[in-house]
Amino acid sequence: MTECTIGGAAYFLPSVRGLGILTSYPLTEAPMRSTLILTMLLVLVSPAVAQTLLVPDRVFDGEEMHEDWAVLVDGEVIAAVGPVSDLVDQADEQMNLPGATLLPGMIEGHGHLLLHPYDETNWNDQVLKESRAERAIRAAVHAEATLMAGFTTLRDLGSEGAAYADVGVKAAIEKGVIQGPRLLVAGPAIVATGSYGPKGFHPEVGQPLGAHAADGVDDLIRETRTQIGNGADFIKVYADYRWGPNGEAMPSFTLEELTLMREITASSGRPLVAHAATEEGMRRAIMAGVETIEHGDGATEQIFGMMAARGVVWYPTLAAVEAIMGYNGWRKGIDPDPARIANKKTIFRQAMEIGVKIGMGGDVGVYDHGDNAWEMELMVEYGMTPLDVLRATTSLNADTFHLSDRGRVKEGLLADLVAVSGNPADDVSAVRNVMLVMKGGEIVRNEMR
Ligand SMILES: [Zn+2]
Repeated sequence: MTECTIGGAAYFLPSVRGLGILTSYPLTEAPMRSTLILTMLLVLVSPAVAQTLLVPDRVFDGEEMHEDWAVLVDGEVIAAVGPVSDLVDQADEQMNLPGATLLPGMIEGHGHLLLHPYDETNWNDQVLKESRAERAIRAAVHAEATLMAGFTTLRDLGSEGAAYADVGVKAAIEKGVIQGPRLLVAGPAIVATGSYGPKGFHPEVGQPLGAHAADGVDDLIRETRTQIGNGADFIKVYADYRWGPNGEAMPSFTLEELTLMREITASSGRPLVAHAATEEGMRRAIMAGVETIEHGDGATEQIFGMMAARGVVWYPTLAAVEAIMGYNGWRKGIDPDPARIANKKTIFRQAMEIGVKIGMGGDVGVYDHGDNAWEMELMVEYGMTPLDVLRATTSLNADTFHLSDRGRVKEGLLADLVAVSGNPADDVSAVRNVMLVMKGGEIVRNEMR
């Protein structure tokens, strides 16, 4: 093995293939200077990084489970995957992962790195009282927790009042300043004037909003293009929000406004996605051509039929609802299911029967970052098989987000991999037992030592 250790972090030193030079001692025990010289020499002699064979008990390739498979990693990509016996002679080094299942790096489909659990600080106070700096620093901590939990990609569904801080967090991760998953970010997101919070202030206060308000042709075109220009990977629109006469969710944008936003977004090669919790909000968003629907509590058979026919993917965000009910005093397993949860259970099964594609995204940020597996556990509890939940978390999420370079364990894709002890196809909670996390061929967490 050519793996060295500094303060718990794992580094791979490049080895010279065929010369058998190994640097197997920990840096902490070796003379630092000579090690550095050796490292520099090795880099000069051989820019190629060693091929490493990961040998778990089984490999989930994003679609199926394969016993006695191994994965060959070369630099930042997967060089080969298949039966151990076919690959065992090809590697410079081998890492055995006894008892483990190796999966594609998991993809969180709906998160907010710029939020933290509402039972710590409610959403209003996060938006109104936490500075942009505090929120960005918290996001850095959240990003690391996400990566360490085996989630190597996260789609962030809006900065919630922190403007383009998500674009900055993404840049800091890409530049190696902080550790975190690969990000797809929305920026501020777009809401209709008057609909979004924080609420309850008299008109002269001029409090900040949790998203950017825009309306009508000129304003919506300009705001959509502004968010694209400022680094949004997709545009998130709130097709409805809690602004009804009694504070209930009601549609906000017209079909024409949503369609316009979709046209502008699509021109730039990006998708439009929608927060929608009412039947009419969902209908308009689907008609306008959004690619994903977030929450979807008001879905009906007809709405799900439209989604299935058009390939619109549903992100039910089960964990956020259970978290909020818990913050409101609901005791799971003791108290009866609140109406919102009972409804989610019903429509979740309905969506599966109708054949709606269901992605894995829990609205993490409402609850603890790093606890992303909670949504996977609830998807199983609400009626999906563990294997389908694993597919939703890897290949389905990758396909939905147009990420053809990840989400599967396949030759040529990014070596974003996670090893967990146990078999998550039997018990999905096994994804919590993280043994190893690799991002782009680099080991960022290693519990094997
Ligand atoms: Zn959200």
